[in-house]
Amino acid sequence: MTTPTPPRTLLRIGVGFVVTGGLLASAAVPASAAVAIPAAGAQFILTNMMPVSGPPTPAERSAGVVAARTIGYSVQGRKIVARLYGSPDATRVSVMIGSMHGNEPGGVPVAKRLEKLGAPNGTAMWVIRNLNPDGARSNTRQNANKVDLNRNGTYLWQAKGISREYYPGPSPASEPETKAYISFLESVKPDVVLIYHQHGNGVDSYRQKNAGLTQGLAARMKLPVKSFDCLGECRGTLAGWFNTSQAGAALTVELPAKVTTKRVKRWAKAARWSIGYVPDVNR
Ligand SMILES: [Zn+2]
Repeated sequence: MTTPTPPRTLLRIGVGFVVTGGLLASAAVPASAAVAIPAAGAQFILTNMMPVSGPPTPAERSAGVVAARTIGYSVQGRKIVARLYGSPDATRVSVMIGSMHGNEPGGVPVAKRLEKLGAPNGTAMWVIRNLNPDGARSNTRQNANKVDLNRNGTYLWQAKGISREYYPGPSPASEPETKAYISFLESVKPDVVLIYHQHGNGVDSYRQKNAGLTQGLAARMKLPVKSFDCLGECRGTLAGWFNTSQAGAALTVELPAKVTTKRVKRWAKAARWSIGYVPDVNR
């Protein structure tokens, strides 16, 4: 696979980062680039200004895609894409994230199954197959900067991880993949977000926002309810950030190691149930 080159506008925006925050100190800067300096504190301007790709391609359209949005680029420049299914104007909105740790691909076939089934009637369903395409490429938990994206979030971030494997990065939301999910989720305001991991084999009740969602999803998936406490306190996780700053509920799903076609079908069906179950918080 070739590494896509981020659009030229991305580089220009990157210049602003060098000037204001030094976040992209090593970014290659074309000599002729026009420098638009973002306001101080506009820390997520990089992903906020990502192009929303226009109408879906003919192939995507025939597969039921209503819109396809590039929500950001990985460290190595791979696109992170969210595809919308269902009703673009629906207030009942879900986001399904197939994978966040590169060596935990079990949720990707669930995401693809959801794409095939489409959104439940009257709802909007965004599917992100993979938030960490570099990690998937190298079969590593972390992104290409060796950062654990599920410790790099802004909520309760701390500088020291419990081990190298959980390196939280140099600062909260330092990674482009983290910025991408924050900007995206803030913009689409989902009622429910499901994030698939492996292979803890359980639906997470740790600081759950909606106990009925946890219980109902676990029962339908035929997985136990478990509290995944990150060996102490979860810091910098996607669910922790979303559940404390956004109106909807995010739920971490730890799939088992063994993924079969039958299980994928069951898990996708359960995910679609969750969309109708949760309250419509952004009506
Ligand atoms: Zn994981």
